[in-house]
Amino acid sequence: KKYVLVSGGVISGIGKGIIASSTGLLLKTMGLKVTSIKIDPYLNIDAGTLSPLDHGEVFVLNDGGEVDLDLGNYERYLDVTLTRANNITTGKIYRDVIERERKGDYLGKTVQVVPHITDAIQDWVERVAAIPVDDTGEEPDVCIIELGGTVGDIESAPFVEAMRQFQFRVGHENFALIHVSLVPTIGSVGEQKTKPTQASIRDLRGLGLTPDLIACRCEKTGLDEGIQAKISMFCHVQPHQVLAVRDCSSVYHVPELLREQGMVDFLWKRLNIEQTISITPAL
Ligand code: ADP
Repeated sequence: KKYVLVSGGVISGIGKGIIASSTGLLLKTMGLKVTSIKIDPYLNIDAGTLSPLDHGEVFVLNDGGEVDLDLGNYERYLDVTLTRANNITTGKIYRDVIERERKGDYLGKTVQVVPHITDAIQDWVERVAAIPVDDTGEEPDVCIIELGGTVGDIESAPFVEAMRQFQFRVGHENFALIHVSLVPTIGSVGEQKTKPTQASIRDLRGLGLTPDLIACRCEKTGLDEGIQAKISMFCHVQPHQVLAVRDCSSVYHVPELLREQGMVDFLWKRLNIEQTISITPAL
């Protein structure tokens, strides 16, 4: 099974969910079966108790699960039916671990964030990634994991550590990372700035995760000349690993934007899909 983690840096609300859904859609159109998991690093068990003013509307799944709106994006983009387990929250993971502790499952051991919470996260991801999400009833080939919040937050730290360990659990050719960053244009000079991206990639690498693709959210005109090369140089990736995601009039244009910049070819090679997955003919 292949996993694509989508993390975010600089600030939230720059289109991580849309980029994660679009990546899933592109892989699906190539004939892969795609599922997705959204991680929300808050302590609520689910979004059902959150005020719409605080966190946006709640999305209700077929099984009655009250979850983050991003799950709605996934269902629409990927034409799948997800379960409440596809939305992981800190609350759910801690509840799971504490219930097991009360039953005595840990055999008298001290229960800790590392390794018990981080193991619980990895087990959950593996379990949910195997659940069929369409009429075929077949296990998905690819699981897109969107990590909510921004890397470096206290809240998301156990999830980041779990994903760091997870890349070794599943192996290098089964795990790719897309990091979504912001390239702001500073008004007075009209110049695009790469420093926030550099800082956020440094944080990411410091936590043991290596970006395979850096998706740079930028203004309508895309990335200015030289900016891609600059990000490539300072963030230690090849220029083709830097993708521009400009403001679009419709978020349904984002998949094509990513495809044009070679995302599918890149992931195909990076995840060695040709050699490891038998694909039903493309849609
Ligand atoms: P995040 O997951 O980073 O919080 P979302 O994917 O939820 O961000 O997107 C935040 C908002 O920005 C949404 O309203 C979405 O429709 C909009 N958006 C995302 N990507 C783009 C884009 N490329 N162009 C225009 N609007 C976008």
